[in-house]
Amino acid sequence: MTATGQRASAEVVLATRAGTGRGRITDVPGEQPSAKPFVPAGADLDDLREAAASCRGCHLYEGTTQTVFSSGSPTARVVLVGEQPGDQEDRQGAPFVGPAGRMLDRALEEAGIERGDAYVTNAVKHFKFTRSGPGKRRIHQTPTAVELAACKPWLVAELRIIDPEVVVCLGATAGKALFGPGFRVTKQRGVLLPRPPLDDQEAARQNAFVVATIHPSAVLRADDPDAMYAGLVSDLRVAAAALAA
Ligand code: SF4
Repeated sequence: MTATGQRASAEVVLATRAGTGRGRITDVPGEQPSAKPFVPAGADLDDLREAAASCRGCHLYEGTTQTVFSSGSPTARVVLVGEQPGDQEDRQGAPFVGPAGRMLDRALEEAGIERGDAYVTNAVKHFKFTRSGPGKRRIHQTPTAVELAACKPWLVAELRIIDPEVVVCLGATAGKALFGPGFRVTKQRGVLLPRPPLDDQEAARQNAFVVATIHPSAVLRADDPDAMYAGLVSDLRVAAAALAA
């Protein structure tokens, strides 16, 4: 079945379950939200991107501009995983194009990792926000563990296709997506960690690693941005060294 066909099937199933219109898993009492029914089997990255555009695996698509999937080469040796798209990413449809993206570009260059050689994605593919203030600006909200788990099938599918040598988790949320809710980026950053199994069915591949570090937006918010930036670059150098080994 084509990616489009599988997505259509998933929507039919969900609509049937929900009983009305374009159903959502979250409409079904007792069911965990999940992108799984929307992820086409045997897909390449283009198929995934197309299918993800219509994902209704959790409620986070509501009120957003679009799914923000990924950018970069399918043959990348390093995959950078952020938390979720921000306001600019939601509008432009690409990850890390706002101020945090510019900070990431600078840090990657200083660490010796070409962004052009990297694949960049997020643990959650829709912008989670709340509206606040006089202009009702969209303010970022951290995804919950349930939302993270709901979106994980996309990340697993991406990593399975690319099978990178190194995954860089940019921030705690990305670390939790791969290692589970107990992951603490403050304790486990800047070291080579064996890549965990992508799901229950798959054993960890040999010689594949994860390096965790802060999210680049943390540098923008820091009281001491220079120290925070130096830490980010130092962690990325660990990933660069693994790629060079
Ligand atoms: S956040 Fe993930 S699971 Fe939820 S609707 Fe968006 S793509 Fe689907």
